Amino acid sequence: MIEPGSTIGIFGSGQLGRMLAIEARKMGFRVACFSPASDTPTGQIADVEIVSPYEDLEVVRRFADSVDVVTFEFENIPAHTIEVASNHSKVHPNGDILYITQNRLREKTFLFGSGFPVAPFYQVVTREDLEKAIGKTGYPCVLKTAGFGYDGKGQTKIRSKADIGPALEKGGGRECILESFIDFEKEVSVVCGRDEKGNFENYGVMENDHMNHILDVTFAPAEVPHAVWEEAIEIARGIAEKFGYVGTMCVEFFLTKKKDLLVNEIAPRPHNSGHLTFDAAYTSQFEQQLRAVCGMPLGPTGLLKPAAMANILGDLWSDGEPVWRNALSMGAKLHLYGKSEPRPGRKMGHLTAMADTVGKAVEIVRSARESLIGKLIH
Ligand code: AMP
Repeated sequence: MIEPGSTIGIFGSGQLGRMLAIEARKMGFRVACFSPASDTPTGQIADVEIVSPYEDLEVVRRFADSVDVVTFEFENIPAHTIEVASNHSKVHPNGDILYITQNRLREKTFLFGSGFPVAPFYQVVTREDLEKAIGKTGYPCVLKTAGFGYDGKGQTKIRSKADIGPALEKGGGRECILESFIDFEKEVSVVCGRDEKGNFENYGVMENDHMNHILDVTFAPAEVPHAVWEEAIEIARGIAEKFGYVGTMCVEFFLTKKKDLLVNEIAPRPHNSGHLTFDAAYTSQFEQQLRAVCGMPLGPTGLLKPAAMANILGDLWSDGEPVWRNALSMGAKLHLYGKSEPRPGRKMGHLTAMADTVGKAVEIVRSARESLIGKLIH
């Protein structure tokens, strides 16, 4: 086991690394992060902030040598960087998992090939590929770039023949994946942790509302039939097993109107839909990542109360600094990530609320967020 007092190395430097670093600090670990940026959300909490391109392998070697274990808060780290790091330190989760989940086509191919349920998908590079694939999916369908996509980036809905040209243009000649458009009832996710011995813990099923393809509100426990709940957990467990996963992982699903689950995406790291565990679970998803990658026993994952989380995006700054006092007076917990530039669509922080029912928690967190723009109310 990697003991408290040791150093955790984190590739990436955003809010996920920040919350991991906070948990690591709480338990007496030291933290070093690595990314091309400075004064980052993670770097502000870490003992050491290495500022370097991921491709500078000499710096990668020195970083890996200086820490006791390496993990990630961002999956788009070049595969070669991870390989080099793994020659100098323990790396969890392993590079193969990152390589698969970095690319939607590899990810869906892995899932389909392993027998997990996914929406029908096809590889597309040329116009001919696209027309052929649409012949199979029909309209509407969604074209996504295979690499480097998140929060709906590089994604176009195709409703009719007229949308084909613009969609291809947006794809920019890159490898893409065409998926059937799923008219889902809701989106849910399972955040879970797995250790080297194969122990598995999960936070149950959480329900996610998106706005403009970006997660907006998550609440837990999700309102789904018992059988759906059990199946979602079993799929997440199956994926973690298949990967030999070590760390915190999230599986995002569509729940169709016929109550079928389809896996949309795997995040090989803590996930935005698990942020409510930071306040509302016995062990947060970040502490679980720390425990798993250090070979410590996994922590219990029960929720202290039904909970809801609302993201705070940069858009909230359009009329000046949000009125933090309002949200704080309504019983919500405020998390801000230390980012200085509030750009539209940028995740700046989140609010969490707990209550006796999920409905009440959602009501508190939504009204707390609304109260941020407007007059001082207390
Ligand atoms: P992604 O970047 O693939 O996670 O997509 C972001 C969001 O876009 C998802 O959470 C869904 O709300 C929506 N979306 C993505 N793919 C599909 C699909 N095949 N059918 C319907 N909605 C989708």
